[in-house]
Amino acid sequence: MSTALGLKLRLGDITEEMADVIVNAANPGLLGGGGVDGAIHRAGGPEILAECRQRKKELPGGQLPRGQAVATTAGRLWARWVIHTAGPIWSAAEDRSAVLASCYTESLRLANDLGATSIAFPAISAGVYGWPLEDAARIAISSVRSVPRGSVAEVRFVLFGSAAYETFRSAL
Ligand code: ADP
Repeated sequence: MSTALGLKLRLGDITEEMADVIVNAANPGLLGGGGVDGAIHRAGGPEILAECRQRKKELPGGQLPRGQAVATTAGRLWARWVIHTAGPIWSAAEDRSAVLASCYTESLRLANDLGATSIAFPAISAGVYGWPLEDAARIAISSVRSVPRGSVAEVRFVLFGSAAYETFRSAL
């Protein structure tokens, strides 16, 4: 029933995580990139990119709108699925918080639809996309808590580096 969602923090590389779903901080083009995206494709192998090309064909203009999420195989990773979500680029002039929150809520909803029981998130938009870490952590935590409880019982935030880990710990 609606017991509280288990939230956990981990320090390390998300590609090594044993969770049903690993979330990729992708870009709208879905064909890979740097940071966590590059790490997931390197560790998971070419099957993930092949399915990304498939998902791309199904999307209007071949682009995944920022704040939305699609699932593919996890290839050679331990996980069953990779959920790709495109985060917003940080802007000082425009509040894009709702788009960042949507990355978390849409990914978690999709994981529930797939029947997953655990999901691992990186700090979406907090790398190349430049989102300030404290704010990124606050949005990540509050948005996963806002999703009605489904099959997913455990949400993990996998932080790359102790600064990100400590920031998420404070926010929690
Ligand atoms: P974005 O473009 O959404 O900002 P990035 O991949 O540049 O995505 O960074 C998102 C976050 O993921 C950053 O905090 C970065 O340090 C972290 N990161 C990079 N590689 C990994 C990894 N292998 N596992 C977990 N987190 C990672």
